[in-house]
Amino acid sequence: MKRIAVLTSGGDAPGMNAAIRAVVRTGIDRGWDVYGVHHGYKGLMTGDFHLLGARDVGGIIQLGGTVLGSARAPEFKTADGRREALRELNQRGIEALVVIGGNGSQTGAYELHQLGFPVVGIGSTIDNDLFGADITIGVDTALNIALEAIDRLKVTASSHQRAFLVETMGRNSGYLALMAGIAGGAEAVVLPEFKTEPELLADEIRQAYERGKAHAIIVVAEGASLDANELAHYFAEHEEKLGFSLRVTQLGHVQRGGMPGAFDRTLATRLGAKAVACLDAGDSGVIAVQRAGEITTVTHEDAVGKPKPLDAELYELARVLAK
Ligand code: ADP
Repeated sequence: MKRIAVLTSGGDAPGMNAAIRAVVRTGIDRGWDVYGVHHGYKGLMTGDFHLLGARDVGGIIQLGGTVLGSARAPEFKTADGRREALRELNQRGIEALVVIGGNGSQTGAYELHQLGFPVVGIGSTIDNDLFGADITIGVDTALNIALEAIDRLKVTASSHQRAFLVETMGRNSGYLALMAGIAGGAEAVVLPEFKTEPELLADEIRQAYERGKAHAIIVVAEGASLDANELAHYFAEHEEKLGFSLRVTQLGHVQRGGMPGAFDRTLATRLGAKAVACLDAGDSGVIAVQRAGEITTVTHEDAVGKPKPLDAELYELARVLAK
């Protein structure tokens, strides 16, 4: 019998619970013991482990967040921290670990793998910035939440001569903002990957009104070079000249907390099953991901720390569609 552990780490994402459930149940199906580690790497270092049965993961597939809890654990970045974690794992006779999380979490997983401990990752981050994955757990649900906000703001924007700036999450990646802008029919998107000048942006919005648009929505990624507050300041200063006012809505963590939709539940379930199949096959140092529509893996070595480029054609498409 094999004994494995599973943890969730870094930013929580809707669908993490479905992944935990799949890891636990497909592990049990193989006759394994599956331990849940509370609070990510923090719990790994302090020995916060609990044996999970099939019933323990009942009723969680529809819940956002993570029932195991997540944490940022800077101590795990140190050799001492990782030694502590290995000690806790070895003491319990745990033979392998599943790490559900994004880029940072997978960097930690790669460190453990390099120390000779078998680790398989599951790509989970609403930012969709994991290299080697088409789309990670939580992206679709977060996108739909942003869209709901944009659709509602459009209604009120159309009733008043007002422009709305919607800030989405995405510290390093503009994926969410770009896709929310395309699917929400935004007049402009401001992303970390492409430079935007406030004067040009204001001009674009003014022209949109002149073309007869009833509303103006600007979607700004959290990590854009020109941030939401700077833009708001610029628009407020030039309100009279521009002929419209700008209101700012920061979606922030509202975007994370949603109930996972069908896409994220099924993706997470399949990735959970894939991670267990990988461990069963003796693999380590790989992340279960969806790529080119397939459930497959990318090695930690290839994926971690590598920026995932944003499709410039989609950025151009967003601009053209705002006509
Ligand atoms: P995400 O996985 O969502 O990208 P973070 O970047 O916050 O989240 O990383 C989550 C955790 O992963 C960190 O708190 C730390 O415990 C671990 N981690 C991140 N980077 C490293 C690293 N270079 N080495 C070891 N552990 C890391």
